[in-house]
Amino acid sequence: MLRFKSLGSGSSGNATLVQVMGTPPFRLLVDCGLGLKPLLYRLAAAGLQPDDIHAVFITHEHADHIGCVLALCLRWRIPVWMSRGTHAAIGSPNFGGLLHIARDGETIDLGGMQLTPFTVPHDAREPLQLSCTDGSAKLGILTDLGHATAHVMAHLQVCDALLLECNHDSELLSQSSYPSFLKRRVSGRYGHLSNVAAGNIASAITHSRLKYLVAAHLSTQNNRPELAHGVMLKALGCQRSDIVVAGAASGTPWLQI
Ligand SMILES: [Zn+2]
Ligand SMILES: [Zn+2]
Repeated sequence: MLRFKSLGSGSSGNATLVQVMGTPPFRLLVDCGLGLKPLLYRLAAAGLQPDDIHAVFITHEHADHIGCVLALCLRWRIPVWMSRGTHAAIGSPNFGGLLHIARDGETIDLGGMQLTPFTVPHDAREPLQLSCTDGSAKLGILTDLGHATAHVMAHLQVCDALLLECNHDSELLSQSSYPSFLKRRVSGRYGHLSNVAAGNIASAITHSRLKYLVAAHLSTQNNRPELAHGVMLKALGCQRSDIVVAGAASGTPWLQI
């Protein structure tokens, strides 16, 4: 059994806890895109301390995913996984023997939890997103994606929960005050998913086991929670409560699969 909780999601910072419900429990932090102080505060609000995190996985080098990872891992001696390209893109810092290189399609066995990273089209050096399983439940995490590829779709099949980027509403983005180069970047093939593109992914994968769909990485300017929720509801035809929108600062409650 797995449970997971977003500690916050969006361009101001992404961090997601994934926990295997064993004794003792095993906890992974996916992305660390917050300052150390807000991260510690949000962990404490979830009843946790940094010592309760057993591993960190970083998807790519953008500031909203990297945040305080170096300080967190060095201070609390937490092992960290990222691609070689991501490590190079942040200046190849010395993680003091805690760094492990993650590669597309190579499953990482953390003891009780297996992660499978996969390559995604996004404007970073070597971005990876991932699926996590304890051998029975499967969680897919996909927060920064320009467009769906066959490779991405293959990795997301038959998830019990999916945390999926719903970055923007195309209409709101086109009308927004963003400069045109930024609009092109966000909506481009190496940018971010619109609500409709995310809905198309969710409906196209085999989602017969899907218990929760978490709409994540919403733009504060170019999206609204009810728009993302509505598109996902239409795409999946599920119960309203099966779709959870992750807040920029509030994240989500613990969700169990
Ligand atoms: Zn990004
Ligand atoms: Zn991001």
